[in-house]
Amino acid sequence: MYCPVCFNDTLKIASSGVVKFSFNGKAKATSQFYYNLNIDSEKDILEKLDTVVKEYFIYYSGFQNKDPLQEVECYSIDFKCQNGCVINTSNKVNVLGLIFSKAELIKSINTFGDKYQIPLDLKIN
Ligand SMILES: [Zn+2]
Repeated sequence: MYCPVCFNDTLKIASSGVVKFSFNGKAKATSQFYYNLNIDSEKDILEKLDTVVKEYFIYYSGFQNKDPLQEVECYSIDFKCQNGCVINTSNKVNVLGLIFSKAELIKSINTFGDKYQIPLDLKIN
């Protein structure tokens, strides 16, 4: 993977860390989960993904005026560059396709969006 700091193909995801989410740029304290790729099964990861999406959607369903949900970001700073670059929140890295896929994210959003009547207009890169 390409490092956002040195732009070399020297970046690897840490075997354990935290994935954070934002929904239309907003997040709750609970919009994150801890992963450990040595321990978590794919099913474990998908359950954690569902829990975060469900939690936020229950919260968002209580809003009077709901903007359609367009942007959902999933990112982490738990990456290591072989060149020793420091990855921080200003150069956070998208984890789609690394911890779970874009299709799995969209499936979760559609499932809970439907259940909690969240208007969706997804534009996920
Ligand atoms: Zn680097």
